[in-house]
Amino acid sequence: MGNFQKTIEKEVEIEGIGLHTGEKTKLILKPAPPNTGIIFIRRDIEETEPIKADIDNLLDTNKFPRRTSIGNEKVQIHTIEHLLSALYAMEIDNIFIEIYGSECPGLDGSCFEFVEVIKKAGIKECNEPKDIFYLKEPIYISENNSHIIALPSKEFKISYTLDYPNTLINSQFASFIITPEIYEKEISPARTFCLKEEVDILRNMGLGKGSNYQNTLIIDKDKVLNNEFRFNDEPVRHKISDLIGDIALLGKTLIAHIIGIKSGHSINTKLIRKIKELIKKEKISGVGSPSYIPITGHQLEIEDIEKIIPHRYPFLLIDKIIELNENKAVGIKNVTINEWFFEGHFPGKPVMPGVLIIEAMAQVGGVLMLSKEENKGKLAYFMSVDRVKFRRTVRPGDQLLIEVEVVKLRSKVGQIQAKAYIDGKIATEALLMFTVVEP
Ligand code: ZN
Repeated sequence: MGNFQKTIEKEVEIEGIGLHTGEKTKLILKPAPPNTGIIFIRRDIEETEPIKADIDNLLDTNKFPRRTSIGNEKVQIHTIEHLLSALYAMEIDNIFIEIYGSECPGLDGSCFEFVEVIKKAGIKECNEPKDIFYLKEPIYISENNSHIIALPSKEFKISYTLDYPNTLINSQFASFIITPEIYEKEISPARTFCLKEEVDILRNMGLGKGSNYQNTLIIDKDKVLNNEFRFNDEPVRHKISDLIGDIALLGKTLIAHIIGIKSGHSINTKLIRKIKELIKKEKISGVGSPSYIPITGHQLEIEDIEKIIPHRYPFLLIDKIIELNENKAVGIKNVTINEWFFEGHFPGKPVMPGVLIIEAMAQVGGVLMLSKEENKGKLAYFMSVDRVKFRRTVRPGDQLLIEVEVVKLRSKVGQIQAKAYIDGKIATEALLMFTVVEP
């Protein structure tokens, strides 16, 4: 997964029949600037307004069953789950979707053609970092014998168990790490399905007017009616694609292992709401353990650090870099009683000076900026320090874990969000701006 937000390169169109309305419908997908999110705009009605694909705009699943619908009293958009699933799995963060009709086209009942149209449009990276949330604690929802569990993980992974006794499906289990490549090949071709005995019920509810044996697998006790599976376990794979569509409503990149056991849209979206609450709580309190999980990159020892930044004892304030990626670095400083500054700050009451914590953060930021190929051998100077908060004192014996992340990066100027933690609790945070100069 790249670290920067993505949109599509050029405008593309896709049209088809809505699975539920049976009406012809068209989408125009357009590139969108950073931090836009996924925005739908109905173009077939007079009084329209943009609707963001977000859990807060989700319409009641009891009112609009068997599909994902977003909107408000005035504007509604239905059956967006397969398009959302494809956008999310293809890592598209920002896009405008103009829709001519109330429902997304059903196409072949899978997410495959949406993946194709996204690839046809081309994928473009911008220079704003992706909004990533690493789940740090397990959470779950359990209701009427169906369950959904989210666990901390280094990757975005989905496992799903499905159970339809006395049918051709029976029990199925599948588990995938979701990358665009795996999604395209293993998940996106899996089509929607329903049991034979459900067909009349759905039709009586006024649903499924656009579905047929081709775009919906009709499952009987021992066979698929008038069709064949693309995978032996096509139904469970389709359930995974639907689940990804629900996760897209979080509006952020989620790194977690999601485990669904007979879970449907209703409890899936409850889990997403719970994760959103968790994110809000972390933001407000400013505490919570660091989002550092060493996924890629490598460690730097003190000798490596000295090759990147010019600082030396007693002014080198980092011991080790434990993660270094294009966009992020995590450094460690073990604070001991022998530090030179404790002698006078303060006699008998040793406290690490706040400005030196800022300096340590700046040095981790310096490693991040100057380790880039184009900046090798240059120097990083401070331009500004903003939004500094000292939340707790740092004392001998503490280990400072310093996490810095690129907020903005132009050719010579970088803005970096820095956070220093002790025992998983935030000690200091600041927004640092640097300029990179020739020595
Ligand atoms: Zn589906």
